[in-house]
Amino acid sequence: MTIRSYTLTRDGEWQNGPWVLAAFLGTLAVGPLVLPDFYVTLLNYIGLSALVTLGLVLLTGVGGLTSFGQAAFVGLGAYTSAVLSTGYGLSPWLALGVGLALTLLVAIVLGSVTLKLSGHYLPLGTMAWGISLYFLFGNLEILGGYSGISSLPPVTVPGLALTDNRHYYYLVWAFVLIALFTTRNLLDSREGRAIRALKGGMVMAESMGVDTSRARMVIFVLAALQACAAGWLYAHLQRFVNPTPFGLTTGIEYLFMAVVGGAGQVWGALVGAGVITVLKQWLQDVLPRLLGSAGNFETIVFGVMMVLVLQYARDGLLPLLARLVPVRARRRRIDTGAAPLPRKAQPEPGTVILEARNVTRRFGGVLANNNMSLSVKAGEILALIGPNGAGKSTMFNQLSGVDTPSSGEIRFRGASIAGLDSHRIAALGISRTFQHVRLLPRMSVLENVAIGAHRRGHKGVLSAAWRLDRVEEARLLREAAVQLERVGLLDLMDEEAGSLALGQQRILEIARALCADPCLLLLDEPAAGLRHKEKQALAELLRRLRAEGMAVLLVEHDMDFVMGLVDRVVVMEFGEKIAEGLPEEVQRDPAVLEAYLGGV
Ligand code: ADP
Ligand code: MG
Repeated sequence: MTIRSYTLTRDGEWQNGPWVLAAFLGTLAVGPLVLPDFYVTLLNYIGLSALVTLGLVLLTGVGGLTSFGQAAFVGLGAYTSAVLSTGYGLSPWLALGVGLALTLLVAIVLGSVTLKLSGHYLPLGTMAWGISLYFLFGNLEILGGYSGISSLPPVTVPGLALTDNRHYYYLVWAFVLIALFTTRNLLDSREGRAIRALKGGMVMAESMGVDTSRARMVIFVLAALQACAAGWLYAHLQRFVNPTPFGLTTGIEYLFMAVVGGAGQVWGALVGAGVITVLKQWLQDVLPRLLGSAGNFETIVFGVMMVLVLQYARDGLLPLLARLVPVRARRRRIDTGAAPLPRKAQPEPGTVILEARNVTRRFGGVLANNNMSLSVKAGEILALIGPNGAGKSTMFNQLSGVDTPSSGEIRFRGASIAGLDSHRIAALGISRTFQHVRLLPRMSVLENVAIGAHRRGHKGVLSAAWRLDRVEEARLLREAAVQLERVGLLDLMDEEAGSLALGQQRILEIARALCADPCLLLLDEPAAGLRHKEKQALAELLRRLRAEGMAVLLVEHDMDFVMGLVDRVVVMEFGEKIAEGLPEEVQRDPAVLEAYLGGV
């Protein structure tokens, strides 16, 4: 493999040069030494909001799961510490530990109920528990009712009680920076790619072996923990808690910060929290004077702003601001010396590895597959052909777990797989491409392909957050590069996947599928949209794979392509198998001629 460097800037991740970061950290560090009290306090509140918003960037901006309920988790952190530190004399640090553990538990329970909801029901679900927890805070005697709990002890660090806002500032921003750092690291990892695939790529990610339910739970829990930490900081900054700041209105405000800042990017959390906190302060000051009466007028202004941002700056303010900062693309090298990933034991060529028997799939009145049976051997290419609507893609979906048969049996290497989750089937060694290309258009080609290798890495969220996954990550990216080279797309690995020609996107999907180290490859119309030369190259690749012992099941319309390449053909019409055999037999079959040529 040739040595290449690649860049990650195209993935919407804001990569600044180290010196921009240094300038930011320097400014942050001297802030409390030079700023008046008012601004230090303001920065403390910006930090607290940024911490919650960062969780939302991960959950909503990156993962596509909208939550209005984050303020409730802030409240959970605040109240846990308030009760334990005033009522039971626990040190705030210990109380933080308990708060995080409690939040973990609550988030898992709430998550396992709400995250199953789809579409608009998920945000509605988060509203429901957001409101419930708010009223719980207000109505529980032990929590001081609506008047709250006061006289919280200060947080202490060795030798110092943090009673001064200027000291507290460093505590708040240490939390924010750690959260920024770990979240950014996480997104740039194996688990991070899986998380980034949740928005718009669930079916694809599942088929590549990603347990998407788990990935959704992970970001839900992480966002909740960050909110909890912010609540703890808030409680001991104020030294007082009551239910008001933990209601639905605040939950909406956090979401608003994420959207205004740029919900897809970690730095957007800072921008959003900063802009909205300052603006709110200013509006609360100015609007009553302008309008001559008190009231929450800022909420109305925020509403109008939200609409404008969604209309004119979909990606939030961060991309606009980033243009003002001299950003430098960060380039890294594919580590060609990284150890190749281990490979699964491949079945003996000639053994039947996939066997579908009497598979039937109904969609209401449509019988998309009717008693379909087929088998595939290791080291053979089987073509599944038939007119449009014959049921080929439906068959593929059932074989790969995207869809469940109404009845029938599917066995793969001895195991029954009908109705199994896609990621489990992927783990057994079936990998696929899609008739309608499914990739993450704004992610680089290399990273898209690396998603295919998800199952071949094991480092989890914590390793990724603290950069303990780099050796494995190098191996995964090297594998992606190797597969890209194999299909002839290595030169394009830095491009955004969405910028590739359709034919190239199909080839990208093959590289991604190969990254999973499958023993059965399902290709749904891979040659569609390819030029003649590209088709020849694809045929050559498939021949090589076959020679290596791979089983390939191929749906394809181009008969010249199919007949010169495959070992056997299964022909479908109206959901049923109408012929099966060697290419030359099938081509002469009257039923097939009838199906294709309408009885000529
Ligand atoms: P092919 O891939 O051979 O062109 P498909 O498997 O895509 O055919 O479709 C077979 C039949 O099943 C078609 O009539 C199609 O309209 C129907 N069908 C496929 N998927 C669904 C679905 N999710 N809901 C309802 N009908 C479907
Ligand atoms: Mg199809």
